[in-house]
Amino acid sequence: MYDAIVIGAGPAGLQAALTLGRMHRSTLLLDSGEYRNGTVLHMHNMIGADGTPPAEFRSDARQELAAYGDVEIRDAAATSISGADDAFRVDLADGSAVEGRRVVLATGVVDDLPAVPGLQDLWGTVAFSCPFCDGHEHAGKSIGILGAAPRAEHLIGLLGRIVGDITVFPTSEPFSDEDRRLLEAKGARVSGAPVASVEKDDDEVRVRTADGEAAVAGVFVASGTMRQRAPFAAGLGLRVLESGCIEIDEFGRTSLPGVFAAGDLAHRATLPGPMASVLLAAAAGQLAAIGIIQSLA
Ligand SMILES: Cc1cc2nc3c(=O)[nH]c(=O)nc-3n(C[C@H](O)[C@H](O)[C@H](O)COP(=O)(O)OP(=O)(O)OC[C@H]3O[C@@H](n4cnc5c(N)ncnc54)[C@H](O)[C@@H]3O)c2cc1C
Repeated sequence: MYDAIVIGAGPAGLQAALTLGRMHRSTLLLDSGEYRNGTVLHMHNMIGADGTPPAEFRSDARQELAAYGDVEIRDAAATSISGADDAFRVDLADGSAVEGRRVVLATGVVDDLPAVPGLQDLWGTVAFSCPFCDGHEHAGKSIGILGAAPRAEHLIGLLGRIVGDITVFPTSEPFSDEDRRLLEAKGARVSGAPVASVEKDDDEVRVRTADGEAAVAGVFVASGTMRQRAPFAAGLGLRVLESGCIEIDEFGRTSLPGVFAAGDLAHRATLPGPMASVLLAAAAGQLAAIGIIQSLA
């Protein structure tokens, strides 16, 4: 019986395991190897690790955890969770099961991108969604925004002072005259035809539409959605917010006693959505670990 089973070894789960291990709480960290930033070459906006490859960050974190005798890491996928506070059972994909007094869900989210041919292949290398993570790298360069008008307008507001030219491409129907005027008033060019495909060509991204082609340095997606990567929120009947994320309190407690959540998959009801970043996911992991340690003490 572990004190805690942490499901997920992105920044949230890794940090939760570190804090639990430093407090000598026996901890099992499970990792199925599917990371939200799995295709990203360099992560940004993380003090002390700005520009670090995410894979290097995770491997350094695992090396740090190896120094703590109370932390065990298994590259294994969890399939279901049952039981109750003080006695949870987590079934693994290999047919075995493990038991823990507390559970931390840190399984992250999946980005569902608009159905633009070629876009999935570029995700994380030249196609992004977060101006805080990838805006500065496009300073002074031409970019494309793929998406629906209100979110595209919001992105222009954030990226406008950083990048050079911005062209907005609708991803399904052409923009209405009103939306077009709104986006142009923000200083962007607006493509009349929806984007047909995107493709990387040397240092450029070619954005094709029915009536032409444009070359930009990168594209920002303003019409994707995200969903829980793992089925545990639904399986456990946890309270979920309008964003699709698990509701947590200040210490990562979910609506089910003994089950904690941290990282992109959860946030407090006072926020409109998860503040998705490596730093904040790690911070949430530490808060959940503190919540667990206090409850066990
Ligand atoms: C394109 C892109 C670029 C980004 N760039 C940046 C950036 O520059 N800077 C920044 O701060 N943030 C960036 N982010 C955001 C950042 O990646 C996330 O905020 C962060 O990874 C969230 O961490 P997490 O621990 O919640 O989830 P994740 O990092 O997604 O980790 C989830 C973990 O859960 C595991 N898991 C899932 N299901 C199971 C299961 N059933 N059993 C066992 N394990 C499971 C996975 O294997 C993984 O270990 C970017 C995101 C994207 C999409």
